[in-house]
Amino acid sequence: MAVRIKNYINGKWINSVSGKTLERRNPANTSEVVTIFPRSDKRDVDTAVKAARTAFEKWSRTPAPKRGHYLFKAAEILEQRKNELGKIVTKEMGKILPEGLGDVQEAIDTCYYFAGEGRRLQGETVPSELANKDAKTVREPIGVFGLITPWNFPIAIPSWKIAPALVCGNTVVFKPSQFTPLCATKFVEIFDEVGLPSGVLNLVHGTGSEIGDEILKHKEVDAISFTGSTATGARIKELCAATGKEAACEMGGKNAIIVMDDANLDLALDGAIWGGFGTSGQRCTAASRLILHEKIFEKFLTKFVSRAKKLKLGNGLQKTTQMGPVVNEEQYIRVLNHIEIGKKERAKLLTGGKPAKTKEKGYFIEPTIFIGKPGMHIEQEEIFGPVVTVLKAKNLEHAIQIANDTKYGLVSSIYTQDVNKSARAEKELKTGLVYINAPTIGAEIHLPFGGIKASGSGHPEAGGRGGAIDTYSSVKVIYRDYSGKLQRAQIDVKYD
Ligand code: NAP
Repeated sequence: MAVRIKNYINGKWINSVSGKTLERRNPANTSEVVTIFPRSDKRDVDTAVKAARTAFEKWSRTPAPKRGHYLFKAAEILEQRKNELGKIVTKEMGKILPEGLGDVQEAIDTCYYFAGEGRRLQGETVPSELANKDAKTVREPIGVFGLITPWNFPIAIPSWKIAPALVCGNTVVFKPSQFTPLCATKFVEIFDEVGLPSGVLNLVHGTGSEIGDEILKHKEVDAISFTGSTATGARIKELCAATGKEAACEMGGKNAIIVMDDANLDLALDGAIWGGFGTSGQRCTAASRLILHEKIFEKFLTKFVSRAKKLKLGNGLQKTTQMGPVVNEEQYIRVLNHIEIGKKERAKLLTGGKPAKTKEKGYFIEPTIFIGKPGMHIEQEEIFGPVVTVLKAKNLEHAIQIANDTKYGLVSSIYTQDVNKSARAEKELKTGLVYINAPTIGAEIHLPFGGIKASGSGHPEAGGRGGAIDTYSSVKVIYRDYSGKLQRAQIDVKYD
C-alpha cells in the first residue's frame, strides 16, 4: 500500500496549503504506487523559509559540539534502521538492494563524521606582523540554506548536505527529488526523533519547477547547495548570482576508465562492469567511457561485452538481480533517445541498444555497449543510463587526451601496473577525483567530493580539508591589538 507523507515545517508534519498531491511509482513495477506526497507551492516554501529564519538565531548560537550531538544520535538511529531504509531506497529509486544499503551506509558515515566536526570546526591562529597583536580565523554559519537534491542517492546526498549544514550552525529548507520523496521523509523523521529544535530542518516536497525556483528566489534564503544535472545547475548559478546568493553546485559527468596494455585485465574488467552498469549507469561517477589501449582492445572488449550480456536485470529486491531499472519514464525515453543518436552517428553497437524483456513491468534497458569515436554525441554527453562508449587509444598520451576532451571534469580512472604511467595520469587527468586500479565509483566520505569544469562549482561536498565545512561556513578574520597604540600594518613594520 502506498505511504502518504507530509511536509515537515517548523517541527510539524503538515500537508501542503493547496492540499494537492503527487504520486511516486516503483520504477521496477510501475503498477505499484509507493508514495503519495504533497505538491507544495510558493506558500509552503515561504512558511518553511520563515521557520528556518526564526530558528537560525538560536541554532547558530548553540555550541557546535551540541549541534554535532544531534547528528551522532541520528547516525545511531540510521544504523538501527539500515535494512528498512535500504529496502525503501530500492523500492522508490530502483537500485539493487546492496546499493540501497550502501546509500544508507554513506549517510551513517556522513552523520558520524560531521558529528565529530562539531568538536573541531577549526579556524587558524597565525602570528601578526606587529607586536602585541593576535590574528586568527573563526568559522561562522552562513544562514538559511536551500538544499536541492537528485534521486540517484536519495539518502546519501541529502546527508552530505544536511549534516555539514547543521553542524556549521545553518538552518535548512530541503527540497528532495520528486522521484524519491519517501527516502527524504524517512531521513528527516530521524532528526525529528532525536529532538532537533523546531524550524532548524524543514522539508518541502514538490517539483523543481514549482518550488525549486521559489527557494532560489526567496529573499530570506542566504545560500543554495544543489546536486543534479549540469543544465539545472547552470540555471541555478545564474539565478543565485542575480539574487546575491552563494551557490554550491555538484553536477554531471562523462567519466572515463583508461585500461593500459600492462593492466591486470581481470581487475580492469570487474571495474569497467561495475563502473559502467552499477546503479544502471545512473551515477554522476558512472564510467560511461572506456578507453582501451589498442594492444588489448579486441581481447578486453570481447570479455567486456560477454560480461555485460550476462547481467541479470530485474527488481532490485530480488537477490539474483544485478541491475535494476532506470528511474522513471522520462529517463527511460531520454536514454533510449541517446542510444538512437548513437546508432545514427554510426557508432558500432556491440550489445543492447533497446528496452530489456523482463518479468516485471518497469523501465528496464539492456546494458548497451558502442564502439565510438572522440567527439561523437554518445562520447560527449552524459547519458545517465546503462550505456558505455568504448574508444581506442594509441598510447598513454592519447588516452589522457581523449579522457580530458570533454566539458565535464568529475572522475577518471586508469588501470596500469606501471607506477610511472599512473603518476603521469594522476597529474594530467583533468577531473576532481582520479582512481588508480579502481573504477570511477567508490568515493569515501572523509575526503572532499566535487568536480571541476562543467561538473562542479568549486564547493565540494563531504569531509576533509577543502570539503563541505568550507562550503557550509564562512570564515571570519579577527585581529586583536592589545598594544594600546595605533599600529599600521605594512607601514609601521620595518624589515632591516
Ligand atoms: P535534475 O533534473 O537537475 O534535478 C535535481 C534537483 O533539482 C531535483 O530536486 C529537481 O527537482 C530540482 N530542479 C529541477 N529543476 C529545477 C529548477 N528549475 N529550480 C530548482 N530546482 C530544480 O537532476 P536529476 O535528474 O535529479 O539527477 C541526475 C543528475 O544529477 C545527473 O546529471 C548527475 O550526474 C547529477 N548528479 C551529480 C552528482 C555530483 O555530486 N556531481 C551526484 C549525483 C547526481 P525535481 O524534483 O522536479 O526533479
